[in-house]
This record gives sequence, structure tokens and C-alpha cells, in this order.
Amino acid sequence: MTASSQPDWTQVRSQFPALAQVIHDRPLIYFDNAATSQKPNAVLDVLQHYYQCDNANVHRGLHELSNRATEAYEGARKKIARYIGAASEEEIIFTRGTTEAINLVAQSWGRKNLRAGDVVLLTEMEHHSNLVPWQIVAEQTGAILKHVPVTDDGLLDLDQLEQLLTEEVKLFSFVHVSNSLGTINPAKELCAKAKAVGALTFLDGAQSAGHMPVDVRDIGCDFYALSGHKMCGPTGIGALWGKKSLLDSMPPWQGGGEMILKVELTRSTYKPVPARFEAGTPDISGAIVLGAAVDYLESLGRDQIWAHDSELTRYALDRLTEVKGLRVLGPPRGQQRGALAAFVMDSAHPHDLVTFANSHGLALRGGHHCTQPLMRRFRVPSTSRASFYFYNTKQEIDAMIEILHEANKFFG
Ligand code: PLP
Repeated sequence: MTASSQPDWTQVRSQFPALAQVIHDRPLIYFDNAATSQKPNAVLDVLQHYYQCDNANVHRGLHELSNRATEAYEGARKKIARYIGAASEEEIIFTRGTTEAINLVAQSWGRKNLRAGDVVLLTEMEHHSNLVPWQIVAEQTGAILKHVPVTDDGLLDLDQLEQLLTEEVKLFSFVHVSNSLGTINPAKELCAKAKAVGALTFLDGAQSAGHMPVDVRDIGCDFYALSGHKMCGPTGIGALWGKKSLLDSMPPWQGGGEMILKVELTRSTYKPVPARFEAGTPDISGAIVLGAAVDYLESLGRDQIWAHDSELTRYALDRLTEVKGLRVLGPPRGQQRGALAAFVMDSAHPHDLVTFANSHGLALRGGHHCTQPLMRRFRVPSTSRASFYFYNTKQEIDAMIEILHEANKFFG
């Protein structure tokens, strides 16, 4: 497929059985994709096939089913490596998702390398999963946490960043695409700035991996994390990518079967990466099905998905201006942003609005979106969020605008 040719999105949508439902007598409009995406038949079929035909534990059996499962599991690792531009599949560690990937680096790299007074630089727009693991390791090591402020436009304050990026900073961990604002951080530029002071970088890719082309080596980060369930894959599986030399230098963070070379009663030696970081029976089916999701996204085209998501988002932002008393948070219209719009409405609290929307078949998300410090920064307790994926349509956005008008009448 060329960059300009687009898939038939109507046909693509028809491959997602969950979208064909009626909720409260209305066709389901699923706009909660930043929380989790729906799954196409191509992905669901792989799950079914795995358990029907290939189910076995990996790496340990010499029988046919175990060989098949191992091949598919390790094949999925290769697919993810290719998908994000990793140098080799040995740099991919399966985790439960982005949260676990960050915890892994905090507990393994962080506990080994951070000393009292070292700085871990984060930002005010981080998801709790990129705040709390560093708080825990800061308590354990005496490291200090600092945060790049966010401007009123929902962008990182780059002047402040210059001040904060000192030689004490050992790691700068930041979100690629904000799940609460939609802001796309200039990852390549930020990684170069961090590198200039000798800091490592961790990019939280939970909201970027499924939506836009990502090449970790081009970006120049040291770690990248993704969550399978936000990119047409299953829940409970994700991946950490790290530069091989870094991963090689990191100690295990969990012990158990499969990650060892030799076990004695009081000490053990460990396998090289990635096995060293995958203790116990892994989520075999999850990894294989995530591999299928990656195949599926690549079959649609990464550029095509990004172009289509962006078009839907632009359309939604334009139409949201028609709703009285509604204010969208995040970068101003006209600036590129992730596929979401989070907003507050004068007439209704987000929880009431989202409940009203649900009664009209519209799935929005209301709350702090796991970014409580950011909500405080913008002096709102919570927001309502509409988040889009390639299977959504402009007609659905039109229907949302009607529902928001109705909500204004109902609550106003
Ligand atoms: N980071 C961001 C930006 C997110 O949006 C999310 C999930 O919403 C996470 C991290 C955590 O992802 P998970 O719950 O899949 O580990």
C-alpha cells in the first residue's frame, strides 16, 4: 500500500464485532479507545486458534505443540522489534503492559544505578504509571524527582526543561502522547537534549504505539514501552524495549523459572536478556496475539492509520466548538495532537455527562484519566474524554455532537 492510498475504512470497521452492538437502543459509539481499543476478527481468530491447536508451555518441551508455541511466541517478539525499529528481538521484553515495563526499569535499572541526590526527571503530564514507580524507587534510593511543567496550552515548558536538565539528571522519562491532553511531545528533540547532559530517556509509548509510526532508534530514546490492548491486542500483554547494552547491564527484578542458567540452594546465575526479565510462564497467548495485532496494524498501514486518526480528531475538534459552554484541554486547534479530545462542560460534571452519554449509546470516559497532578495543574477535578481509532467515523462524531447538545438542554 502506498502512503497516499487509504484502506476502505467502512470495510475495516466491519471486522470489529464489538462495534456492531446496540446499547440502550442506539448503535454503540465507542470513543474510549485511549483506555483500550476493540479487537478485529483477524486478532480474535489467532487467540482461538492458539488455544484450540497450539496450546503448550514455551521453551521447555521437545514436543510438537511446545515447539509451535515457542516459535509463535518468539516470532511475536520479532514482529514487535520490527514494528518499533528495534535493532534486534533480544531488545524486546514481554511485560503486562506499559505500567509493568516502567516498574521493571525503575526496579532493575533504577535500584542499581540511582544514588541519593540523583535526579529522575518526569513531567507534569505523566500518567500515574510514569509517576508512582519512580516515587517508589526514589524512596528506596534517595533519588530526587523533578517535573517539567506544562503550559496553559498543554505543552511541555521547554524553557523550564532547559533549567531542569542538569548533569544530576540520570533519567528523563516522559509520555510520547498524553492520554489526558492529546499533546504529542517532540520526543526526538527531548531525547537529544537529555543525551547532551548524559541522561538516559524512557518514552512512554502507551498512546503512540498503535496510532503513529514509531522508530525508537530514530527517536534516540533508551527505553520505550507499549501496551498491547491499546493497539488491537489483548489486555495483560505489552512490551519493554531497551538498548541491548543497557538491558545487559541490568539485574533481574523477578526470580523464578526460565530466567536462570543454574540454580543452587542459596544462589543462582541468570540467562541473558530477554529471558532474564521473563520469570515464570509468560503470557504466551497474549504475546502471540499481540504479534497478530501488529500484523493487522501493518496490513492497514501505519501512515494510513495515523492520517485517518488525525483527520477524525481534526473534525471532532472543529465540531466541538459548536457546543455551548464546552472547553477542550490541550494544544490549540490547528496543532497536531493525538487522537483524543478531553473537555469540560459548564452544564454538567464529567461523571454526569458520561452517564448521560452512555444512556445514548456513546462510550466516553470521565475522570482524572490517571493523571491527578495534571488535573490539579488545570484546576479541574476531572474531564470527559472522547478518544478515537481508525474504525471510528465522522458520522459517529456528528452523533456525539448531537448528544452533547442534548446534554446541555438536559442539564442546563
Ligand atoms: N501511559 C499512558 C500515557 C497511558 O495512557 C496508559 C494507560 O492508559 C498507561 C501509561 C498505562 O498503560 P497500562 O495500563 O496498559 O499499563
